[in-house]
Amino acid sequence: MTDASSSDLHVVEQHEMEMGDVIAEQENHEYVDDRTKRLLSELQKHWLTNYHNSREKALVELTERLHQEFLADQQKIRAELLQQFKEELEQTRAELEAKYRDQLKQESTKMLEKHRRELSDAKKKQWCCQCENEAIYHCCWNTAYCSVECQQNHWQNHRRICRRRKSSSGQIPGQ
Ligand SMILES: [Zn+2]
Ligand SMILES: [Zn+2]
Repeated sequence: MTDASSSDLHVVEQHEMEMGDVIAEQENHEYVDDRTKRLLSELQKHWLTNYHNSREKALVELTERLHQEFLADQQKIRAELLQQFKEELEQTRAELEAKYRDQLKQESTKMLEKHRRELSDAKKKQWCCQCENEAIYHCCWNTAYCSVECQQNHWQNHRRICRRRKSSSGQIPGQ
């Protein structure tokens, strides 16, 4: 062997060794790659599962929240409607009461007026001292009769206090 050939052989050997290293490394790389791939795949599966679960959970939560909001809104609307209805009812009741009070006031004013008129008329009228019918004939103060008959029948009682006694000389007026 020459130095050169020896040197060449060394180079070849070294090369072969390097090649072997590269192959080993490549194999190693491939091995790592496979492991990494598996890991990545598992991680991906894990993440996907997590993602799906989270998404499912989020959707359920969102649905639940929307449902709650819907219920709350409905309740609010119902409460508002009820409140509005109560207010309208109260207003109607107040209006009716005011109207009724006015009518009652007018009615009672009319009644009172009528009563006053009747009382006034009654006061102006005189009543028969004998039978308490409305009087037509007036004898003297506070004494009147509905008819001559009543006046004559009452005369026995009335003659002692009759204020026309002196002027009429104890005679029955009209006779
Ligand atoms: Zn009479
Ligand atoms: Zn008299």
